[in-house]
Amino acid sequence: MKLLKERILRDGRCFEGGILKVDNFINHQMDPALMHAMASELARRFEGVGATKILTVEASGIAPAIMVGYIMGLPVVFAKKRVPSTMEGALTAEVHSFTKNRTYTLCVSSEYLHEDDRVLFVDDFLAYGNAAQGVIELAEKAGAELVGMGFLVEKAFQRGREVIARHGIPTESLARIASLDGGVITLLDD
Ligand code: 5GP
Repeated sequence: MKLLKERILRDGRCFEGGILKVDNFINHQMDPALMHAMASELARRFEGVGATKILTVEASGIAPAIMVGYIMGLPVVFAKKRVPSTMEGALTAEVHSFTKNRTYTLCVSSEYLHEDDRVLFVDDFLAYGNAAQGVIELAEKAGAELVGMGFLVEKAFQRGREVIARHGIPTESLARIASLDGGVITLLDD
């Protein structure tokens, strides 16, 4: 997606350990017009998959997910990163976050994810695919079907796409990064 790629090249910044900071327009300050354009593009790419629900992970996935849900007319559920004491029928999966260097328990209530659901997962980044793997586990536990996974930015060099491909789930990313070596952002030409 040209608009996003241009914005990444203009405003994205590289950090140690292969981290791309996009705080200026996605992760801290947000650009609603760009967010709407990105969500429209994800909705377009997944319009034929028959999704009945959007699933994301708090916190940075919520903004793109709610826009996609609004455009597609679907409910949006966000998985939480710790189990609330009041949650009934919690489905859980352990996920390692390499950006935060910690492991957390991803959880969603079985009330909001169940066997009738055809789920489209939406998140800001695909890196090593750990969050995606956790979501796949949650969907399996719920008996729900994952019909697609859509990301704003994919760091292709961290190979998360291969984790998802093992499960045969259609995957789309709006901007794919080939490398952040030497603090230089190199995009894949697709
Ligand atoms: P994964 O589980 O695929 O390794 O990482 C995905 C999650 O980590 C995303 O939900 C995202 O919030 C965070 N993340 C991974 N890499 C980056 C990055 O380079 N920049 C930012 N801002 N977040 C990242």
